[in-house]
Amino acid sequence: MSRDQLVVQRARKSFQTGNTRHLEYRIHQLEGLHRFITERQKDIADAVKRDLGRSENAVDLFETLGLEGDIKLAIEKLAEWAAPRPVEKNLLTLLDEVYIQPEPLGVVLIIGAWNYPWAITLQPLVGAIAAGNAAVIKPSEVSSHSAKVMEELLPLYLDKDLYPVVTGGVSETQELLKQRFDHIFYTGNSTVGKLVMEAAARHLTPVTLELGGKSPCYIDKNCDLTIACRRITWGKFVNCGQTCIAPDYILCEPSIQDRVVEEIKKCIKEFYTDNPKTFEDYGRIINQRHFKRLMALMEGSTVAVGGDSDETQCYIAPTVLKDVTETSKVMKEEIFGPLLPIITVSNVDEAIQFINEREKPLVVYVFTHDNKLIRRVRAETSSGALLANDCLVHFTVSALPFGGVGNSGMGCYHGKHGFDQLSHLRSCLIKQLNKEGVNSMRYPPHTAKKLGWARFFLLKQVNVCRLRRMVLLAIFTGLAAFLVQSFLRRR
Ligand code: NAD
Repeated sequence: MSRDQLVVQRARKSFQTGNTRHLEYRIHQLEGLHRFITERQKDIADAVKRDLGRSENAVDLFETLGLEGDIKLAIEKLAEWAAPRPVEKNLLTLLDEVYIQPEPLGVVLIIGAWNYPWAITLQPLVGAIAAGNAAVIKPSEVSSHSAKVMEELLPLYLDKDLYPVVTGGVSETQELLKQRFDHIFYTGNSTVGKLVMEAAARHLTPVTLELGGKSPCYIDKNCDLTIACRRITWGKFVNCGQTCIAPDYILCEPSIQDRVVEEIKKCIKEFYTDNPKTFEDYGRIINQRHFKRLMALMEGSTVAVGGDSDETQCYIAPTVLKDVTETSKVMKEEIFGPLLPIITVSNVDEAIQFINEREKPLVVYVFTHDNKLIRRVRAETSSGALLANDCLVHFTVSALPFGGVGNSGMGCYHGKHGFDQLSHLRSCLIKQLNKEGVNSMRYPPHTAKKLGWARFFLLKQVNVCRLRRMVLLAIFTGLAAFLVQSFLRRR
């Protein structure tokens, strides 16, 4: 038996003991995960520093803070999320118990990516644990230091049979994918996403694919360009642009292009000094392969800001490219690095058309004071999320489902969405073995009269809460009328 087979088998056996059915058990594991990210903050920060050159505070802000929030929310809300969810009934089932029961799926495979190696790998784990699953965790081999720390330290805080960490590269991931899982949660590029889906199809395993794409950012010429460019500069260059939801490119009218360049230039200086290379809050490209890929993407475009690089350090300065066209190299794939192209369009109609001619992105960004314009962009485009007048922050709202659509992915997570995504939402209808008369309309012989009754009973939806409120209201009204009458009679 191979290592992967053993690991998955062990996780399944542990799942089958039924321990994870108990909410206290899940909470205990979530607390363990919380202890891990707080007690091992230093190990995590060191690993990310070595992988991506990020500063310690930035690790807290971009890796563990959101994770901590998600864990706390799951602990607080678990009883509510896991409870039966009553649903509206029809007249036929009015006297029955009808509800949705969230149940664990079984063994989940979580395949992480390297750009936020902790947040991206452990946040799906929060949903998996909360929903009562076992989970095999496969961190990205590209962020090798983080993967190593995860493999060594996480098992000290979690049940190591239920939540094993498997490290390794492409071939190890492919081996893992041959195993049977009950759900696969993959984060990474769309090409591998298709391979993951293919492997999952062999076992009819459902998948969540958190992919990427080119997220456009439209800037309205009448908006406050200083504030808009500040927020865009932050959203683009944080983690050296290696953020799945970073604005990939700017669309704006030619009349504001130069001002946009100037404003972004000012912000780069403000955030990262005159020399980002030596500034601790500006990181590095993950490896030479990506460095070379990014340098090649720049070819043929006009550099308006930045552009310098150092291959020995995998350093590329925050860079703005102007007068970019749709045929430029940089527009051929997701950039995923610190290059920000500006493409000019004559108006918002052209911007919308430009967006719609391409794959559906993770986010559509729009910067404007005009609410009508925001509503229009929302109505006429499609993406995982729509964000107006800011970047990235929708990621922090646990109540919003985080995920893509079309080429940018399928399924979602964060907060309760992560719990639901990794649960089976089981339909339950509990009837009593009496009141058989009600059922006669469905038994043969079928007649027009019975059909009439069936139509009436089946097509009437009953909102039990509203019905209860109406009955209570009727009782109160009756009571009030009675009291008023008795009072009047006494006078
Ligand atoms: P990556 O190279 O780390 O790959 C991700 C995982 O896929 C790794 O664990 C790796 O082992 C596995 N893998 C790679 N090639 C494989 C193959 N041929 N067969 C099986 N498994 C394989 O990460 P990446 O793909 O470079 O990540 C960057 C992409 O991920 C970008 O497109 C980015 O937008 C996207 N992303 C999306 C999100 C999101 O939440 N939607 C978050 C982060 C990154």
